[in-house]
Amino acid sequence: MTGAASTPTPQEFDRVLSSMCTEPHPAAREAAVAFLADNPGDPATYPAVADLEADAVDALGDVVGLSNPHGYVGSGGTEANIQAVRAARNLADGDVNVVAPESAHFSFQKAADVLDVELRLAPTDDDHRADVDAVAALADDDTALVAAVAGSTEYGRVDPIPALADVAGDADARLHVDAAWGGFVLPFTDHDWSFADAAVDTMTVDPHKMGRAPIPAGGFLARDSETLDALAVDTPYLESDAQPTLGGTRSGAGVAGTHAALDALWPDGYRDQYERAQANAEYLADELAARGYDVVDPVLPLVAADLPDDEFGALRDAGWRISTTSAGELRVVCMPHVTREMLDAFLADLTDVGNV
Ligand code: PLP
Repeated sequence: MTGAASTPTPQEFDRVLSSMCTEPHPAAREAAVAFLADNPGDPATYPAVADLEADAVDALGDVVGLSNPHGYVGSGGTEANIQAVRAARNLADGDVNVVAPESAHFSFQKAADVLDVELRLAPTDDDHRADVDAVAALADDDTALVAAVAGSTEYGRVDPIPALADVAGDADARLHVDAAWGGFVLPFTDHDWSFADAAVDTMTVDPHKMGRAPIPAGGFLARDSETLDALAVDTPYLESDAQPTLGGTRSGAGVAGTHAALDALWPDGYRDQYERAQANAEYLADELAARGYDVVDPVLPLVAADLPDDEFGALRDAGWRISTTSAGELRVVCMPHVTREMLDAFLADLTDVGNV
C-alpha cells in the first residue's frame, strides 16, 4: 500500500438479505477485542480464555439441551461438520461412509474430501426435509455417521431428527445434527432437534450466525468425552498435552465473543430475536405471495420465492445483497439486522423492477 490510504470501511448491513452472518451484539464485540491475542488452542498458557471457553461450552449445552457438553468454539460450521465426520470415522473400523440428505451443507463435501470418506446423499421430500426411507436405504454396515440438518441453509427446514436417530441406531452409526444456523432459534419452537429430543451424538451450532458473536465463532458439541478423545492428538511442544480441535491456534475473540453473547442474550434476548425474525419472515412471505410469487413457507426465519431472473438481477443492481437456492429461488435470511423497514424498502424496489 502506498500514499495516504483511505480508511477501509466494513460492509454495512442495511441491504444484506442473503447472509447468515449479522452484526455482533455490542458486548460480544467488546469482549472479542479484549481477547484478540489469547489463544484457546494452548489452554495451559492461556488459562483465562480457557476458563471462558469452558463456561461458553456449558452455556451452549443449555441452548442445545445437553447438561454435560464436551466441545469447543472453533472457526465455524464447516470445521464442526468436518470434526463430526472425523470423529465418526476415527471411532469406526475400515472404510466408512456418511449418509446425509441432499440439503446438507456443502461443508460435508469438504469433509468427505479431506477425510477420504464416501458421502452418500439421500433425496429430500416434497418439503425439502430429509426423506427418512431414502436415508435408511443408503445406510449399511459401513455407515459411520448419519448427518441431519436442523435449519437447512436453503429453506430453513428441520429434518425428522428422532426418526433419523432410529436409522442411525439400526445401522450402528452415529448421528450428527447440523444446527449451525438453526441452533439459536430452534429452542423457541416445537421442533424435535436437540440432544434432549433424540440420540444425537454430535452437533454443530454456530454462535457467529444467529448467536450474535463475532466471526469466527463456531460450536462443536458432543454428548460423550470419547468423541473428543477420538479427535485428540498429542501436542509435545505446548504447555497443554493434547488438542482435539482441527485448528491449532484459535481465536480468543471467538471464544470471548461467544461467552459474552450468550451471557447477554440467553434465553430471553434470543427468544425476542427469534420472534422478531420469524414475524419478519412471515411478513415478507405474505407480501411476496400477495404480489403473485410462489413462496416456500418459512418454517424458520428464511424465505425462498420464485422470482424471474431479470427482477432478481435488477434488485442486485439496486444494491440488494441477495442470493438464490440451487433451484434458482430468491433466498432471504431474516437475520437480526433485517428490519421491517428494510423489507419494506426491498418490497418497494421489487414493485419498481416488476413495473419496468
Ligand atoms: N451448516 C449450515 C446448515 C450452514 O448454513 C452453514 C453456513 O451457512 C454451514 C454449516 C457452514 O458454516 P461456516 O460458513 O461457518 O463454516
